[in-house]
Amino acid sequence: MPDAGGKAPLRWDAHACVPLCAGAELVALDRHRRAGFAFVSLNVGMDMTTCQGVVETIARFRHWLKRHSDRFVVAHSLEDVITAHESGRLAVAFDVEGAVPLLSDEALVHLVADLGVRQMALVYNRNNAVGGGCHDADEGLTKRGRCLVAALNAAGIVPDCAHAGERTTMDVMEASATPVIFSHANVRALVDHPRNVTDRQIDACAATGGVIGISGFDLLLGRPADAVSAMAEHVDYVVQRVGPDHVGLGLDYVYQVGVDPLPAGIDPAYWWPPEAGYGGEWTGSPPETADALAEALATRGYSHVAVSKILGGNFLNVARRNWKAGGAATD
Ligand SMILES: [Zn+2]
Repeated sequence: MPDAGGKAPLRWDAHACVPLCAGAELVALDRHRRAGFAFVSLNVGMDMTTCQGVVETIARFRHWLKRHSDRFVVAHSLEDVITAHESGRLAVAFDVEGAVPLLSDEALVHLVADLGVRQMALVYNRNNAVGGGCHDADEGLTKRGRCLVAALNAAGIVPDCAHAGERTTMDVMEASATPVIFSHANVRALVDHPRNVTDRQIDACAATGGVIGISGFDLLLGRPADAVSAMAEHVDYVVQRVGPDHVGLGLDYVYQVGVDPLPAGIDPAYWWPPEAGYGGEWTGSPPETADALAEALATRGYSHVAVSKILGGNFLNVARRNWKAGGAATD
């Protein structure tokens, strides 16, 4: 991985959220930059968001980022990320959580790729037309889902299995021609929650060359007193199982909690079932966690090289193998 000009290793956060409503301030993302991140994947919609809503959000975010090019850049290529790293800026790309807003339409997939979407979850918690959700009766990837995986591969968008049911994720990992990720999920063997990944999923993800982004969302960590050491434990579990090349960070930090209104008519209990533990304060680990996590891993005996891979290099490699597939990378 690049370690440009003696700078600190490149840090990569595979998932963060700011309110999707008009008027939300992206300036909060400067905390990611100051915490040493060169890249963050920013959510622009979920299965309950309309296609128009996704496109409008991307438009607003791009407009804001371009007006603040002294600190931020919209990432279209790996070169953009590496340049941002070298110049102390934060490269931002977008992710969609669920296929519903794009209607799994191949042309729309390519459109949002051109607009900066570089990662896409196929399903958000509940079944949709392409596959099963982690909080639903999962019957696997549908025919339409297989077409979507092919479209994502062709467009250079990383297929993301976070929020999908286990059977669907196994199908996605088998169908994808490129490495697949779980952008923000933890280890089921440590915290038994449907959003967390089983050993079978960890093995299959590694076999694709993919990465599991350890989430800072406290529910998926078992609401520990010390989130950093809990995250280190989840990282270590994946490393012990499949080696140090298949784990990264997807902090799932939510800026301005409570500001974002749900779309009209949405039943929160359907999308986030209370019996799965949702409903309390949404607490994620902030970007500043990265330093403490690096230290916790070093204390566990991890080398500088291994820590660098985990905090950024592994996701960078996945991007290198996916973004290029769609002609999005210039390296
Ligand atoms: Zn999510």
